[in-house]
Amino acid sequence: MIAELEQAKNLFVNESRLVRRHVLTALAISVVHTTICFFYFIGGYFNTTIANFVSLFAAIWLGNALIYVLVTSGKTLRWRDPSLSVPITLWLTSGFLLSSYFVDAFRISVVMLFFGATLLASFRCSFWKIAALSIFACVGYAVVLVLAFQDRSMSLSLSVEGLQWLIFSLSCAGFSVTGTGIHKLRRRLSNKNEELSSALEQVRNMAIRDELTGLFNRRHMLDILQQQKAIAESGGYTFSVCYLDLDHFKQINDTYGHGVGDSVLSRFGAALDEALRDADYTGRFGGEEFVLVLSNTDLTEAERVCERLRQQVEIINYSDLNAALSVTVSIGIAEYEHDEPIEETLSRADACLYRAKHTGRNRVVARVEGEKKSNCVTRAFA
Ligand code: GH3
Ligand code: MG
Ligand code: MG
Repeated sequence: MIAELEQAKNLFVNESRLVRRHVLTALAISVVHTTICFFYFIGGYFNTTIANFVSLFAAIWLGNALIYVLVTSGKTLRWRDPSLSVPITLWLTSGFLLSSYFVDAFRISVVMLFFGATLLASFRCSFWKIAALSIFACVGYAVVLVLAFQDRSMSLSLSVEGLQWLIFSLSCAGFSVTGTGIHKLRRRLSNKNEELSSALEQVRNMAIRDELTGLFNRRHMLDILQQQKAIAESGGYTFSVCYLDLDHFKQINDTYGHGVGDSVLSRFGAALDEALRDADYTGRFGGEEFVLVLSNTDLTEAERVCERLRQQVEIINYSDLNAALSVTVSIGIAEYEHDEPIEETLSRADACLYRAKHTGRNRVVARVEGEKKSNCVTRAFA
């Protein structure tokens, strides 16, 4: 079940992968731009010197490289726009506009690359951002035309250039609306992704946690014990298992009611969890029985920890539930022994608990003297 839940995480969209893909697509658009301009230059349609041509595209690719390094370094992942969609689109568009100044015959083909860049940005940008990018492109295009007419008015047709500008501007307006639809779709998808992620987390918690106390449930504690056993078998590591049972809990239920009993259980569980290190595990095995797994802890140390816990449990305040209410706990401990099945470690801890109960309760027992291991087995823990 847990393995299936872990697998389901693969369904989530990986943000850093998306951001990387975004910047790579932007670079691909820039490659197309550079390639077509290169062919226009070879064909004699790019009206500038080779030095100007190389300088222009060197500057464009220097900017591209900076953007690539910034985005792939992961620094932008905490920013509002991790893929830098607006700066990238502005940068690409500036390159298209600048180069379009030099290609009178095919200007529109270069400026049209703007739609490729904006289509990419529309996955990330709201209507207003796409509209602002479109206005930037239309105004920039107009400035290019004014400059081109100042330099080469004789070889240009005002009606053709003006008409192309008008078609471009109208396309930009239409594109702003379509792009917004794409943005909304992506936002909805991203919200669904977050909902799915939190639902999965909830399901995972339900599968491994006890509903009343929020501690790990029996099944998960058995998994943890198997993992601890595997670590211990690899050498140089030991752990202890502590079996806890509240004393005379039935009386608490009978005297104060089941609701108070439930509150005692959850308060007791919270106190246990708080008193232990992060590396330890606290679980409710069922009813008023709890199990602790103390990692990297031998029997002597576990005994010391449990004695401290026993004393802390004795002074938990239940006065809001009932002034006369007091709760004690009996604890049995076993340290894992090389090669033994986990069920046997649990049984030895349970045997110690049994001894604690029969020697007066409210105590910690770590050893059952004079009894063979097999005699300690009192219950089945499958
Ligand atoms: P001992 O000191 O020997 O452990 O005695 P005890 O009364 O604690 O043990 P016993 O096994 O006789 O009773 C356990 C009681 O715990 C009986 C059961 O009704 C109660 N119990 C089990 N689960 C829950 C629960 O989720 N909520 C509440 N309120 N009571 C529970
Ligand atoms: Mg019990
Ligand atoms: Mg009990």
